Amino acid sequence: MCILTYRGYGYTPAFVANMSEIVAAISNGRPVELSEGPDDICNGFTEACRAISDHDCSLESTRTMDRVALLSVLELLPELALNEPVTLDAVRIAALRAAFADGSLRAACADCSWRDFCTEIAADGFSGVRLSPAR
Ligand code: SF4
Repeated sequence: MCILTYRGYGYTPAFVANMSEIVAAISNGRPVELSEGPDDICNGFTEACRAISDHDCSLESTRTMDRVALLSVLELLPELALNEPVTLDAVRIAALRAAFADGSLRAACADCSWRDFCTEIAADGFSGVRLSPAR
């Protein structure tokens, strides 16, 4: 979900480099899989995340936030399934953006420290974000 508003900011330069590479690959058609717990963006950065954020993955509150986000996406796109690869094509990204902008996808954002930042990006039509529909 957080890749929708990713503009190239993150916990550390290494985190940003990794996330930027993944988001660019997704934009170029790399399939994504919905999963529970830390993913390819999180893995290897738990310590950096813990040092800066109040949402590191060792916390039950973070795991709950993660599950809420997962359920919100599955509710919006019921054709998706856990651990099944899918491409984020233009139709899916448009649906995700619309639900993000109207708030229906954002139950997991309630306690996030970047909530206002992501809200502004959505209100600004997702300008400047790195994720673009797969070509
Ligand atoms: S507000 Fe937080 S949880 Fe929601 S999309 Fe932004 S970074 Fe992700």
